[in-house]
Amino acid sequence: MRDVQDLLLPHIRRLNTYQGVDPMEVLAEQAGIPPEKVIRLNGNENPYGPSPKVAKALGSYQNYNHYPDPNQRRIREALSGYLSVEPERIVVGNGSDELIDLLLRIFMGPGENIIIPAPTFGMYAFSAEVCGGEAISVPRDDNFEIDVAAVKLAITPKTKAVFFASPNNPTGNIATESQIRSILDIGIIVVVDETYYEFCGHTVLPLLQDYPNLVVLRTFSKWAGLAGLRVGLGVMDPVIAQTIMSMKPPYNVNLAAEIALIASLEDRPTLIQRIKAIVEERDRMMGLLQEVPGVKPWPSQANFILCGLPQGRGQEIFEGMCRRGIFPRYFNSSTLKDYMRISVGLPEETDRVVAALADLVRG
Ligand SMILES: *Cc1c(COP(=O)(O)O)cnc(C)c1O
Repeated sequence: MRDVQDLLLPHIRRLNTYQGVDPMEVLAEQAGIPPEKVIRLNGNENPYGPSPKVAKALGSYQNYNHYPDPNQRRIREALSGYLSVEPERIVVGNGSDELIDLLLRIFMGPGENIIIPAPTFGMYAFSAEVCGGEAISVPRDDNFEIDVAAVKLAITPKTKAVFFASPNNPTGNIATESQIRSILDIGIIVVVDETYYEFCGHTVLPLLQDYPNLVVLRTFSKWAGLAGLRVGLGVMDPVIAQTIMSMKPPYNVNLAAEIALIASLEDRPTLIQRIKAIVEERDRMMGLLQEVPGVKPWPSQANFILCGLPQGRGQEIFEGMCRRGIFPRYFNSSTLKDYMRISVGLPEETDRVVAALADLVRG
């Protein structure tokens, strides 16, 4: 028998695993504290949880023995009302992560590539590599703004798509409409990931009328607090939508996710109140972080803040936070080694985060 490793496709053998966030129990054990003491600010999750209507709807539903609708009729219809776009343009995914993968599978083959203005969300490069392709990183400028000229220069006949997260994770700034248009005009697929739309109100959805090569991604993970149930969606040209509908796993969105999506849309006033509270708390946290010597918080349109830390001390400060039971997101990359991304949590969490950070930076 040969080594089973040798049976794997070479690009799968080479794969860099995506580092997702660990469960509460794991973080608690790491810090040596009970799970309820953990301050979990590494996944941009919603600190207020899902709408209370979600648990009620999930608990009273009777037919979990049935398969969900492979054509997603009810949820596409409901989303059509929420987004004011035709249901034929909508595809729902098991998180928007699944849609990133499905899009790459229909547009990009082995040996081809996508372009990402870096730093950005890690799943684009990960999914491209799973598909046997490559993500070409085009560095953002010193203010983390997209270098459109450099993106254009990086495009070759092998380039199948450009991915813009707007607001960008982890930098918090948006891609402007003119930046997005200038790449759309080239004619390749442009994916605009609007995961944090509900925290800022900036969207390029209206551009779909002019550009069949535009795909807009949204999710219920962050604003609606459904990260654990996995509900993401894409809005796109009906031909692309139909193509994805016809090649996706038939039951990709489970019934619990469907029910939670509908219940969330029915309880929008509650969720919008919470978004307001998160945005206010973000701005308060920004003010507090600006007062910490040696820390440079970047203005954010999302529910997290990227913080620059004193040179060469990023990892040490991050580890100090974890020891205190506070878990921000640290990126072990050359550009971001002296940064960490802190999700906006509850007000009392902000106070503890800022105090711990000030203490650690002081040394
Ligand atoms: C969190 C995040 C996602 C993942 O969304 P899911 O719907 O939970 O898969 C996608 N894109 C960006 C930029 C994110 O920050």
